[in-house]
Amino acid sequence: MDRTYRKNEKLTVTIEDMGTSGEGIGKVDGYTLFIKDAVIGDTVTCSIMKAKKNYAYAKLQQVVTPSPFRVTPACPAARQCGGCQIQELEYAKQLEHKYRTVRGCLIRIGGFTEEETDAVLHPVVGMESPYRYRNKAQVPVGMRAGKPQAGYYAAHSHFIVPVTDCVLGPKVNGKILESVLEYMRECRADAYDEETGKGLIRHVLIRTGYHSGQIMVCIIANAERLPNEQVLVEKLCRIEGMYGITLNTNTKRTNVILGDKLRTLWGEDAIEDTLVLQKVTQEEDGYRFADTEQEVRFRISPLSFYQVNPQQTQKLYSLALKYAGLTGKENVWDLYCGVGTISLFLAGSAGHVYGVEVIPEAIENARRNAAMNGIGNVTFRTGKAEEIIPAYVEEKRAEGIEKPVDVVVVDPPRKGCDERLLAAILKVQPERIVYVSCDPATLARDLRILADGGYRIREVTPVDQFAHTMHIESCVLLERVSD
Ligand code: SAH
Repeated sequence: MDRTYRKNEKLTVTIEDMGTSGEGIGKVDGYTLFIKDAVIGDTVTCSIMKAKKNYAYAKLQQVVTPSPFRVTPACPAARQCGGCQIQELEYAKQLEHKYRTVRGCLIRIGGFTEEETDAVLHPVVGMESPYRYRNKAQVPVGMRAGKPQAGYYAAHSHFIVPVTDCVLGPKVNGKILESVLEYMRECRADAYDEETGKGLIRHVLIRTGYHSGQIMVCIIANAERLPNEQVLVEKLCRIEGMYGITLNTNTKRTNVILGDKLRTLWGEDAIEDTLVLQKVTQEEDGYRFADTEQEVRFRISPLSFYQVNPQQTQKLYSLALKYAGLTGKENVWDLYCGVGTISLFLAGSAGHVYGVEVIPEAIENARRNAAMNGIGNVTFRTGKAEEIIPAYVEEKRAEGIEKPVDVVVVDPPRKGCDERLLAAILKVQPERIVYVSCDPATLARDLRILADGGYRIREVTPVDQFAHTMHIESCVLLERVSD
């Protein structure tokens, strides 16, 4: 690269890769360009917006030669809306990119060799039909020109792109959102304004049971009451499948969506759903999944974490269970257990499952879920895994038990596992560790620590939970290297 590039300069470039936010990446004489909405394989013209020494952010001007992997997005707002990032890239290519991302993280961040990585990494488990898969929508509401509107934030902003029928969620969400907007207009319930802290309605949260069809709407408001609540209730409870309407109060000036206070306006304060255990078989080109007779019922309240893609969650948990390799006798830990979803999948094949989770309501749900399914061999504890587990290990040591666990399952948030937790796990040396991850970078970091602590990675399988977005979920099996 032998020259400087300037703002507004026009360039022609072919896209070869994709960045972490789904932007296309191409090079001109060694100078790297990041271009939103350009997809791998496109040749495009672009205009530099922000030039740095070695790279620039540029605006897509025209697709000169479209990529063979370019498709027309199913949603007309795909480009403006920040909810999806890669709807214009063919689904098979999305999966291939996610595979390469996981591979890259294991090699670059985890320090595993290419051979080690390729020997354990499976193709991404994708969806047959990657639309209308989400069971949860969390939709911000705002005012524009005096009118309330609902939609999703544009990328890196709080500007609402109006979308009521998101193609990732069920059709009924459109009807629900239109009804809420109609109520807001009729009853002068204005949307909340983040700038001033004034106004009422902040978000609409919708959850739909995949098997049960039960629908829950939770209105998140900057108040404990809404004007003419019964008008809203009358509109919503007419919608087929409506099971509960709740009001959550959040008066804080924060980006956190949900407040702590919840009041039921109509019906139930939670929905129920089931997840069906899958029989997992390995074929030459990847895993196959088939429904079994076994299912687990869950009660899901608006405040608890619950996986958003039930079809793929069934596959993910079934794979985690397969990797756990249980024979009916094992002591298993399920750390970061949420409402006990993985715990209850494991319990049927384990001796005992010990679940740990930081949110008290989730643990309440977990206990109730266990009881509802008649599962007795589980114990749940509220607290931080990195505090509860080291203390538990010490407690057991004092009782003379050196190895209180045979199999550990972890499913941490994006920041990965706390080092204190990994150290405690390594201290007790379980036979197998199953790591369910929603961020390949922190996964690779933690796998290195576990590998250095005496474990060998046996399987790494990404399971696509978030089609059309850049999020990547993976399930990993580690085995203790016998001494
Ligand atoms: N395994 C569950 C939940 C996974 S999401 C499922 O599949 O549904 C991660 C969970 O970790 C969330 O429920 C979050 O509340 C919890 N969490 C976050 N930090 C934690 C910590 N330090 N200790 C224990 N749980 C934590």
